[in-house]
Amino acid sequence: MFDSLSDRLGGVFDKLRGRGALTEADVRAAMREVRIALLEADVALPVVREFVDKATEKAVGSDVLRSITPGQMVVKIVSDTLTETLGADTSELIIDVTPPAVIMMVGLQGSGKTTTTAKLAKRLKERERKKVLMASLDVNRPAAQEQLAVLGTQVDVATLPIVAGQSPVEIARRAMQAAKLQGFDVLMLDTAGRLHVDQALMDEMKAVADVANPAEILLVVDSLTGQDAVNVASSFTQQVPLTGVVLTRMDGDARGGAALSMRAVTGQPIKFAGTGEKLDAIEPFHPARVAQRILGMGDVVSLVERAAESIQQEDADKLAKRMAQGKFDLNDLRAQLAQMQRMGGLGMLAGMIPGLKKAQGQMAAAGVNDKTLVHLDALIGSMTPKERERPEILNAKRKIRVAKGAGLQVQDVNRLLKMHKDMETAMKKLKKMGGLKGLAKMFT
Ligand code: GDP
Repeated sequence: MFDSLSDRLGGVFDKLRGRGALTEADVRAAMREVRIALLEADVALPVVREFVDKATEKAVGSDVLRSITPGQMVVKIVSDTLTETLGADTSELIIDVTPPAVIMMVGLQGSGKTTTTAKLAKRLKERERKKVLMASLDVNRPAAQEQLAVLGTQVDVATLPIVAGQSPVEIARRAMQAAKLQGFDVLMLDTAGRLHVDQALMDEMKAVADVANPAEILLVVDSLTGQDAVNVASSFTQQVPLTGVVLTRMDGDARGGAALSMRAVTGQPIKFAGTGEKLDAIEPFHPARVAQRILGMGDVVSLVERAAESIQQEDADKLAKRMAQGKFDLNDLRAQLAQMQRMGGLGMLAGMIPGLKKAQGQMAAAGVNDKTLVHLDALIGSMTPKERERPEILNAKRKIRVAKGAGLQVQDVNRLLKMHKDMETAMKKLKKMGGLKGLAKMFT
């Protein structure tokens, strides 16, 4: 079960705590667990393979952020890959066409097709204020057309009057005509199901699609049927141009495996999830939420996101502390430059770190812009550690070497040193005035 995926990963990675980057062997060990967990969750084998390959490629060699464990890092990568596989966002119905927008519902018998037709009609009527007409094209199953009529009465949506003896294509034509004449915005066609996929069914779907020119062809699949659902989806995908999937009985499927397979097999978004027998038990499908449910560990994902943020804050705090003590060498300057770039350049800087607002002013005065940040970093990078700590030892000869190393001029080195000097002086003044509190007073 998915619930144990976190435990599995935790076990594999507990002993790896503290390592810098994820090695291939570590990742492969974790992915073995991911693979088993996905198979247990009823995800189709080819989908599992592709998924594991993708996640492995992303994970090998990626850095483990400070303050989280490698296991947590892998969970985040797996979660990102899940969201990617499931699609990033919720997908809307395409009804923004010349009316009537035809929504054709296809799927096997018992998948929940008729119920879903009524649920969607109700939603469109209530949320989008659309005038909806429903028509059942199921002439095989006795009472199928009556079933839709009963549901229509329950959700207060019009259904096409039943005429005995008509073929599905004839009913579709009549429905189109009625929808046009009576000014319906949306026409929902509930097509016939079968117990199994067969060619007669597919031919019927194609003939109806030719007549009705649907804006949406939604495949309705029962999420509880696992591998069967995958086979059904791939047969339909080959024969009719699906535009989306509705997964029913998600209320009974704690594993979510069908969702992952469906998206991969059809290449189309899962647009809705059925969550019960009641006629309002349908929800837009949220890929990220399902990914979290599959992993059963949304908390870890947000933990990793927070860790990434707090590392930047830690660096900022460290720098601010040194500055408050009046210490400020070229290493500090460099850290500050890196910080600025990470935060989105000079413009984003003000207010992020106490004291940096002042530094920003100094830099702007010295003609520093986002592009020169890169130059400054290169210059400091070509200095020796000693030169960075004590810039005053940089004589003419050393300056030439540094400039050459960075592919720049001696005057660029001088500009850097002048800027550093100004900032250092500012820091010292700041210390005399009582550190950060003094600075705060100055600016308030
Ligand atoms: P069709 O043959 O594909 O048209 O299937 P129906 O719409 O007649 O549905 C078959 C049964 O599944 C009915 O009893 C529905 O109430 C039930 N059903 C449909 N969707 C869902 C769902 O999302 N959750 C649950 N629990 N039951 C559903």
